[in-house]
Amino acid sequence: MENNCFNMTKLCPDADNTLGTVCIFGTGDFGRSLGLRLLQAGYSVVFGSRNPQNSSLLPKGAQVLSHVEAAQTSRVIFIAVHRENYEFLSAFSQELAGKVLVDISNNLMKNQYPESNAEYLAKLLPQANVVKAFNTVSAWALQSGSLDASRQVFVCGDNSESKQMVMDIARSLWLTALDQGSLLAAKELENYPLQLFPLWRLPIYIATGLTAAIFIYCVLTDIVYTFVTEGKDNSYRIVISIANRVCPIVSLIMLSLCYLPGVIAAILQLYNGTKYKRFPDWLDKWMLCRKQLGLVALAFAFLHVLYSLVIPIRYYVRQRQNIYIISQVKDNKTLTFDSTMSWRSDSFYSLGILGFSLYILLGITSLPSVSNMVNWREFRFVQSKLGHITLLLCTAHTLVYGWNKFLYVSRYKWYLPPAYVLSLIVPCIVLVLKLILITPCVDRVITRIRQGWERKSVHVPHDTSGQPLFL
Ligand code: NAP
Repeated sequence: MENNCFNMTKLCPDADNTLGTVCIFGTGDFGRSLGLRLLQAGYSVVFGSRNPQNSSLLPKGAQVLSHVEAAQTSRVIFIAVHRENYEFLSAFSQELAGKVLVDISNNLMKNQYPESNAEYLAKLLPQANVVKAFNTVSAWALQSGSLDASRQVFVCGDNSESKQMVMDIARSLWLTALDQGSLLAAKELENYPLQLFPLWRLPIYIATGLTAAIFIYCVLTDIVYTFVTEGKDNSYRIVISIANRVCPIVSLIMLSLCYLPGVIAAILQLYNGTKYKRFPDWLDKWMLCRKQLGLVALAFAFLHVLYSLVIPIRYYVRQRQNIYIISQVKDNKTLTFDSTMSWRSDSFYSLGILGFSLYILLGITSLPSVSNMVNWREFRFVQSKLGHITLLLCTAHTLVYGWNKFLYVSRYKWYLPPAYVLSLIVPCIVLVLKLILITPCVDRVITRIRQGWERKSVHVPHDTSGQPLFL
């Protein structure tokens, strides 16, 4: 049976009607979990172990043999052994010749070895077909069946038939197999599980820094100032009032930071007169984490909405209202209806509601499941056009909130401007620059540059076929 199946892409079904036999070297955590899933999916599983007699806790129905015996039962062998122990495999080079060896190993550090584990295995056993796969799926996820976190199996290898066999196995375990190309991609796949939110780091640092700075600013100008100048203890305001000032400010600045790199990139392209000159590294990194910046900004906007919703039920607010009404009754005065004030407060709320709704739309369309359903033009329409409109609405919301407060000297505590003024600096810069960039005469030049046109005076190196080389 084994020999007849040797040249077939699919594993040969066994006489007992299973999907075929899969061999696993190593009876550790991963080997056992994978074995269990394979058995559940309908495969026969044979383990290759150093101590076949002493292996315990193996899934029911699996066989345990010596490495040599186990290797003869299947064309596909999962190497569930740490890379540091791979050398023992060279003793079985003859038995493993022509087999598909699935390297599932990970390292403790990024770029721990000069070559990837899979390339090392291929070097040890040049007659085998090495495929890198399954290293991004954890033993726990395989065993518990809760595969939400790591459903994707990235597969790479130099032999397409072998890759196909491994991808078929992954799919039969209800995993999503994704072909990542040749074995050269193995290093990247091995580094992948070692990453810790790489694109979230910068946005989190920015959010933390901004939150701390603005919190200190607000405490200083609101609480410390009142205490020093009037001797009044306003510290209770920290919990909601100050928090509800910090959140929208951080949110608005971070939203504008999503759109600032795009504006800087356009200005650089205009300045360079070409798109074939590389952006500085910091700009590249900034552009890459725009989605994460936006999602953190959205989280702060959510907090702002929640804090705002509790305002009417706050003790401090109700107390102030009561005192105000009582004083009107006592003085026998009725407050006259101020139409301007009404317009102002309604516009303020309306702009906030519209801005927040578009904010949510931007957040939803950045989710992979949604962005996969729209084409590039639709995605750009939402993220760029609607994104700038969101920034405009949120900036207008803040402007209406501030209204003419910035004109009053009393608002400048210790000569410091009100906090909302700070939140408007970056968004206003971004909006003004964007406005200039979309004027027809500037937009036309940018569009031409992005289509490959270069200003005559610009010298960009070209390769032998005449294609421009990136600097
Ligand atoms: P493990 O629990 O330590 O098991 C490794 C197995 O390798 C042992 O049970 C042993 O099986 C065999 N072995 C140990 N020393 C050996 C030696 N000197 N020579 C030959 N075989 C030896 O490790 P694991 O967690 O299953 O991980 C196995 C591989 O899967 C690793 O490369 C790891 O990076 C990768 N991986 C693990 C996970 C996970 O969640 N655990 C996830 C992705 C990838 P026998 O006693 O039967 O020979």
